[in-house]
Amino acid sequence: MSPLQERDAMLCRACGKEERASEGYPCVKCGRFICVICNMRGVDLCRECVEKTDAPVKWLTE
Ligand SMILES: [Zn+2]
Ligand SMILES: [Zn+2]
Repeated sequence: MSPLQERDAMLCRACGKEERASEGYPCVKCGRFICVICNMRGVDLCRECVEKTDAPVKWLTE
């Protein structure tokens, strides 16, 4: 688990991977970083916000 060489790498709060901050999006509730890969999968909330909501979490449970 070596960090990316990118200067703008940030930890995605949904999948937990380091991705490029410049390509990510903020959580719609708390504004924390969510990577573009999660966003393309329809994730717009970080893991913590998902756990606090009653919304279905199919991307967590598969
Ligand atoms: Zn992610
Ligand atoms: Zn959040």
